[in-house]
Amino acid sequence: MLMRAKFNLVLLLTCMLGMAVSAWYLHDNLKQEMMQELHRNAEATMEAAIAVRRYTSLQIKPILDADPAFAFRKQAVPAFAAREVMALFHEHYPGQSYREAALNPMNPKNVAQGWEVALIQRYQSEHLKGAVTELVQTPDSSRFNLARPIRISDKACLYCHSSPDRAPEALVSLYGRKNGFGWRMGDIVGAQIVSVPAQVPMQRMDDTFTRYLWLLAGIYSLLFVVLNLLLSMLVLKPLNRANALLTQEAGQDALTGAISRRAFLRSLDDAIAQATFDERPLCLVMIDLDHFKAINDQFGHNVGDHVLHQLVYTLQQMIKQRDCLGRLGGEEFGLLLPETAESGARVLAEQLRVAVMLGSFDPVPRVTASFGLAEWRYGETASEFMHRADISLYHAKRNGRNCLYVWGEDDHMPDLTEPAGHS
Ligand code: GH3
Ligand code: MG
Ligand code: MG
Repeated sequence: MLMRAKFNLVLLLTCMLGMAVSAWYLHDNLKQEMMQELHRNAEATMEAAIAVRRYTSLQIKPILDADPAFAFRKQAVPAFAAREVMALFHEHYPGQSYREAALNPMNPKNVAQGWEVALIQRYQSEHLKGAVTELVQTPDSSRFNLARPIRISDKACLYCHSSPDRAPEALVSLYGRKNGFGWRMGDIVGAQIVSVPAQVPMQRMDDTFTRYLWLLAGIYSLLFVVLNLLLSMLVLKPLNRANALLTQEAGQDALTGAISRRAFLRSLDDAIAQATFDERPLCLVMIDLDHFKAINDQFGHNVGDHVLHQLVYTLQQMIKQRDCLGRLGGEEFGLLLPETAESGARVLAEQLRVAVMLGSFDPVPRVTASFGLAEWRYGETASEFMHRADISLYHAKRNGRNCLYVWGEDDHMPDLTEPAGHS
């Protein structure tokens, strides 16, 4: 039992550790996959915006610039074109957005807000070149942001953004002279920012994680049960059997602690030899629990075992050290009383009967036993002696159980070819 408890404790801790490591690994992988998916989505939007920008600056702007009739058209500004096209695009993808945020833009719609300001300042101060990504989680929403710096690398930009005096008149009259000027080559003036909602992928990740977690819990529980069964079948049962065999070999009955039948028969032979030598009396009491089968049937086999154990404990409390109590079979016991004449044995057997009747065998309210006594006759063999005691027990059962029967003058020496008939 202790071994099983220890095994289960270690197994439980191992399973829990296994669960924790698997869960952590799984969550990490799912999160990575989700981030990659969000990143791919944002990247595609960013590439689309960049493509619109390039198309505008490479194909639209030169045509308009070549025509003196069009001095300035905001539609030919790449940033404007990208923002407008992506706004149309995002009508079909609510929640997604594309912005070209700048600290000092010409178009007030592009003024950087809150965290966008911090991001642009970070680009400026840390001279970051590449894309920056972040997962922003608030109680109301989760968003994935992908940002790229807007650096002035084309001199054509300065045509509009260096000073109001150099800028096209149409532009100045549209946006005024105040904002969007003073840009220089190499300056980071803002950032392209794609923002995609992350709630749905996160919910999907959580659902998958929960599903796998249940699966893992099922697998580990099954493992726990199977290992326990294996432990029982392959280790504990054979070990208990070997233990019982060992204690039996050692002369002791594993369940009750009384000596085994084999050891009892050896003791009987020794006692007869001693009694023959000493010419001292010797008595044998056969003890059999009454209606024990009914106890098993009513309370279960474990309670039956407990009754057997308690019976031996009760008897052993009352016998002398030299007396010998052995379990001869199921619920049948033999008590050898060396140097004890019938009169003394009768008193002791009666005391034992009463002790059993009044004893506590909780949860069984009442337990009784029948007792058969015989005194050894000089020259009698062990089997003759045992058989007479057995016959006495048979009479005790016949007399109504819960009583003592002592072999008397009128009883016949049994015919050893006929077995005694009590249970
Ligand atoms: P009687 O008064 O005539 O002796 O009736 P009984 O029911 O005691 O005797 P019977 O021989 O009909 O039944 C004995 C029962 O003892 C049957 C068997 O299952 C039970 N038994 C034998 N060995 C053990 C054991 O080690 N543990 C338990 N719990 N029961 C046992
Ligand atoms: Mg019985
Ligand atoms: Mg019996």
